[in-house]
Amino acid sequence: MTTNLMNNWIGGQLTPSSSPSTLYVNCPLDGRILAQVPLSNAADVDSAVRAAELAFTGWSKLPIKERAQIFFEYRKLLIEHQDELAQLVHEENGKTIDEALAEVKKSIEVTEFACALPQLTAGEIMEVSRGVECRTEFCPLGVVACITPFNFPNMVPNWTIPNALCLGNTMVLKPSELVPMSAMRLAELLKQAGLPDGVFNVVHGGKDVVEGLCDHPQIQAISFVGSTKVAKLVYVRASAHLKRALALGGAKNHLIVLPDAHLEMTANNVTASMAGCAGQRCMAASAMVGVGDVDPVVNRLVEEARKIVPGMNLGAVISQAAKERIERYIDEAEAEGAVVKLDGRGVKVPGFENGYYVGPTVIDHVKPEMKIAREEVFGPVLSIMRTKTLDEAIDIENKNPYGNAAAVFTQSGGAADYVRERASAGMFGVNIGVPVPREPFAFGGWNDSKFGVGDITGKSSIEFWTKAKKTTRKWNAEARSNWMS
Ligand code: NAD
Repeated sequence: MTTNLMNNWIGGQLTPSSSPSTLYVNCPLDGRILAQVPLSNAADVDSAVRAAELAFTGWSKLPIKERAQIFFEYRKLLIEHQDELAQLVHEENGKTIDEALAEVKKSIEVTEFACALPQLTAGEIMEVSRGVECRTEFCPLGVVACITPFNFPNMVPNWTIPNALCLGNTMVLKPSELVPMSAMRLAELLKQAGLPDGVFNVVHGGKDVVEGLCDHPQIQAISFVGSTKVAKLVYVRASAHLKRALALGGAKNHLIVLPDAHLEMTANNVTASMAGCAGQRCMAASAMVGVGDVDPVVNRLVEEARKIVPGMNLGAVISQAAKERIERYIDEAEAEGAVVKLDGRGVKVPGFENGYYVGPTVIDHVKPEMKIAREEVFGPVLSIMRTKTLDEAIDIENKNPYGNAAAVFTQSGGAADYVRERASAGMFGVNIGVPVPREPFAFGGWNDSKFGVGDITGKSSIEFWTKAKKTTRKWNAEARSNWMS
């Protein structure tokens, strides 16, 4: 079979990798081969970094208002091409078209934030003493690198591209080798928007490229989004090379449900959070902790989950290996005594028999010490734990090592605040199952869900992608006055 061997994107051109290693890219919906992606090497990384370095001088010298114009244009192109971009995400990632479109719309929103960066980064200036002024300005870092996961092929690269570039940096992106195609389309649209060649580069591959980026002496900062295991490796390796690093990791998000929770709203939210994007979201609800009698909510959410049908309103998971891993978690939970109330194992979608589908799964009476309660499953699987008191529920949430998101479902403002103050998570929802902050609020978790200071989007990203220059100047020539006078 002949399949299209993809290229890297270096200096604004399609550039073949110098590595002979490749990987097939499969469509999760039906297993069909979509492309062949190169597993690039350190020489490819070096070419991309050199192109980015070359472009940095001209790009960083442009006034930020000029750079922002390109992102106004990029935003327009994302809107014009949103259906095509969503189709690409649908094919390479396996999520539904609606979910893919929502992802592209989020990319548009973060690009809008970048368009506002000239206003947001207007420096401070003040006369701190007679005739003496201090001013702050935000300077770009240089060449930066971004490493992204498979679950949002369009949105996660866009968490960093518009902000880091508009702030004057140049970039090498390493997308997930499982979903390499969206990043190439973004590269084309950026060029079409007027981005100078070399400002944005894409190097495909896996571990070797990531290590090459962490080790490369000309890369100033690295952002990573992916599993906790790799986030730790990248954070440690990049920091050891004295780079600025921000590494977002995996998650195990707990939704605490109180008996007074609104029945329909809670059931709908918990189900949508668990099954959206086939559970492959770092913000997905994978654990519900019911306090007291929450049987009505559990029964209702099982009813809701039954309406979620693989191949219709539920997409595929990323690979056959992922499907098998998710089903193993369900097998083990059942063997340990949990009750599978809705079973998504072994589903086949007619006409898409080679696709990687797992149906919505609800497992009740899970105990906190079970593997399924402790680890990230990353599939459309909800584990329900039961406690007698709210403090026990909070204790379960606090003890899990992750800290991306948590939520509470209740009609009591006091109870909601009680949980909010005690939850050990960076993003918190009150009667919201997927509490993703909208721009300009920043995205980022706590604990093992993030390593490094600050968040990846919003105002926090300005500090990550720039260094502040503080100037103190005096034009007053009075001989006896010093800068403190
Ligand atoms: P992953 O960690 O397997 O891969 C992420 C990136 O790291 C990819 O580009 C991959 O090529 C690279 N990589 C993989 N193994 C590596 C290794 N040993 N050394 C160096 N690089 C390596 O993650 P994934 O499976 O693509 O994505 C799913 C994970 O990402 C989940 O854990 C999910 O929770 C997490 N995620 C987190 C956030 C967040 O904001 N915290 C957002 C999206 C996804």
